[in-house]
Amino acid sequence: MTILSVEALDARHGLLQAVRGVSLALAEGETLALVGANGAGKTTLLRCIAGAHRATAGRVTFAGDDVTALPAHRRVQRGIALVPEGRRLFAGMTVADNLRAAAGRGRAGNWTLERVMATFPQLAPKLHARAGDLSGGQQQAVAIGRALMTNPRLLLLDEVSLGLSPVAVDAVYESLRALLGGGATVVLVEQDLARALRVADRVVCLLEGRVVYTGAARDTTREQVMAAYFGLREGRA
Ligand code: ATP
Repeated sequence: MTILSVEALDARHGLLQAVRGVSLALAEGETLALVGANGAGKTTLLRCIAGAHRATAGRVTFAGDDVTALPAHRRVQRGIALVPEGRRLFAGMTVADNLRAAAGRGRAGNWTLERVMATFPQLAPKLHARAGDLSGGQQQAVAIGRALMTNPRLLLLDEVSLGLSPVAVDAVYESLRALLGGGATVVLVEQDLARALRVADRVVCLLEGRVVYTGAARDTTREQVMAAYFGLREGRA
């Protein structure tokens, strides 16, 4: 079943058009990797899906309802959770309080502090530490945990690897593996193409705000995506 449908979406930052006529659909349980060069419009598109950035044209349909006009908090209530670039935690609050602050903002469901700790075991000893004192990888785990506490039906992950050491990135993805393999529906922005192709079911490449490649990850080579990435060829696998 299609859970998310984006149709002919445009978005701007002032005079600059960052997203141009983007259409894509996502089935429940699917992981879609959004790739593209810096400035291609990935973050803006993700924020439009979450309701954090207003689209200037087009439509976002979620679980059968047109949510284009809904503000971000109403989309969270319907099950769309964004893990933003840069994480945006409450640095002075404890990990537990950051997580609790998200509970109740989303849907009813079975995500609890305990389940987040089981998913990200590296957080268990840090539950009462200030979020701002954690390592980058631990902070990223809190940011994902906070999104999970809203019991999302769709998880939007914006560059979870950004600024993390390779070891920390591996740890975060190792924890995500159970979620990704366990039927979660995810759109992830990932700079590391090899990793994107490994974890996703489908890959969409943006170039200057437009979709220039879409294909099943298993049928897509790194070379195909790189060509689309730099505008050398448009393709569809
Ligand atoms: P990155 O990988 O660098 O995060 P991205 O693919 O996520 O890039 P966006 O961040 O969506 O791309 O940016 C798309 C375009 O919009 C870029 O040209 C960027 O400079 C511009 N842009 C993004 N945010 C703003 C803003 N707040 N104000 C003005 N322009 C912006």
